[in-house]
Amino acid sequence: MSERKVRVRFAPSPTGALHIGGVRTALYNYLFARQHGGDMILRIEDTDSHRFVPGAEAYIIESLEWLGIHFDEGVSYGGDYGPYRQSERKHIYKQYVDQLLNDGKAYIAFDTPAELEEKRKEIPNFQYDASTRRMMRNSLTMSKEEVDALIAEGKQYVVRFKIEPNEDVHVNDLIRGEVVINSSILDDKVLYKSADELPTYHLANIVDDHLMEVSHVIRGEEWLPSAPLHVLLYRAFGWEDTMPEFAHLPLLLKPEGNGKLSKRDGDRLGFPVFPLEWRPESGEVSSGYRESGYLPEAVINFLALLGWNPGNDQEVMSMDEMIKLFDIHRCSKSGAKFDYKKGIWFNHQYIQLKPNEEIAELFLPVLKEHGVEAPFEKVVTVVGMMKDRVSFIKELWDVCSFFFVAPAEYDEKTVKKRWKEDSAKCMTELAEVIAGIEDFSIEGQERVVMDWIAEKGYHTGNIMNAFRLTLVGEGKGPHMFDISWVLGKEETLARMKRAVEVLK
Ligand code: GLU
Repeated sequence: MSERKVRVRFAPSPTGALHIGGVRTALYNYLFARQHGGDMILRIEDTDSHRFVPGAEAYIIESLEWLGIHFDEGVSYGGDYGPYRQSERKHIYKQYVDQLLNDGKAYIAFDTPAELEEKRKEIPNFQYDASTRRMMRNSLTMSKEEVDALIAEGKQYVVRFKIEPNEDVHVNDLIRGEVVINSSILDDKVLYKSADELPTYHLANIVDDHLMEVSHVIRGEEWLPSAPLHVLLYRAFGWEDTMPEFAHLPLLLKPEGNGKLSKRDGDRLGFPVFPLEWRPESGEVSSGYRESGYLPEAVINFLALLGWNPGNDQEVMSMDEMIKLFDIHRCSKSGAKFDYKKGIWFNHQYIQLKPNEEIAELFLPVLKEHGVEAPFEKVVTVVGMMKDRVSFIKELWDVCSFFFVAPAEYDEKTVKKRWKEDSAKCMTELAEVIAGIEDFSIEGQERVVMDWIAEKGYHTGNIMNAFRLTLVGEGKGPHMFDISWVLGKEETLARMKRAVEVLK
């Protein structure tokens, strides 16, 4: 079995926006496939028409593409094992349902919802299984003629899996080790419904994993309870030899660690739980990582470490590095706290790592929003000087708008503190000195200005603080001569002149 080609699938149901936990599942599948030179499949599990949400499938595809999780096969990618949308595979499932019926591994049941409800009232903790199926209306309790007649009449039915009681079912999980469950706790799951001629999730999932030659099923912990049933189904079909290996990923927990992460936690603490903004046809708009200003690399890196680590302190890793380092056996069993602040930290890290040109490119639309058009070179320079102060591109505006827009007013507090009696006089003198500087490089200015300060016996701090106020309008910003260098001589002098006029 170990020589089998690695084929994994991400199999979301299009029931809404893809939750960030689902993104992590897709990511782990992707890392695993890539590191084994395997295939990654996108299968859409849309057999439950009641829960189908228009737009969800496109949303899932766009989200994963944005994040750099690409598929080899599947919906919108094509491939030899298609169709990859379960609703388009209707014709495939019926023969497998029939196979189980013919082998006596499944049976037909006519119980109506009302009848089932009745039983639930009658019998505490009612479960449709070996202990109760004799009391129900199904092909095990009715004659073949009766069953055939009802079907011929057009009565709706379901097909249920006949689970043998009292058997230990072993699930080998790559993360959790061997999980043993007694089959008596399982109910005779519905595998097929005549009403819509569609299989349920369980049957379609197993048949497709088999037909698509899936070698590893890597999915969220919430599917662990279904795993014994899936093992039994594989066996019932006689497919033990090609049964995939399972890995159930740990839950994502609330930032405080008490319970499962939910959308409400995001609303409460102000972080997105979806990759992209989600605008359902009805209902509220939910924020997304993309629209909130996260870089896809940062989101990926952040998610990769929620449930896995490379065994050392390394945190910042490119996708390629993660593909090399990822180890499914190193995934943790216990839930991972969703430390969203770490996500912000990663965004900061990636802003530092990315070339200034790339960050500048992303900053251009923000500048435009503020009505600023500046030479690209200047934007690159400013970004390079200021990006270590921000965690989001949009925050760049706050820290560096003064490079692009001259101060319209001067911060009152700073004026009080930094604009002294003689500031106007000193700044007028300094402007003259600056006007005469030939080498306007950072060092060139610094040399001349420092000499002038020393010669005059002025207080360096007082001069620099006032100088800053004239150029920035307040007390913030990087090194003074970095600012004047970026602004250029002309703009620097113009700002100084205006400040002297306004502040006196
Ligand atoms: N359709 C299931 C989901 O929405 C797939 C679970 C699995 O991976 O088996 O997550």
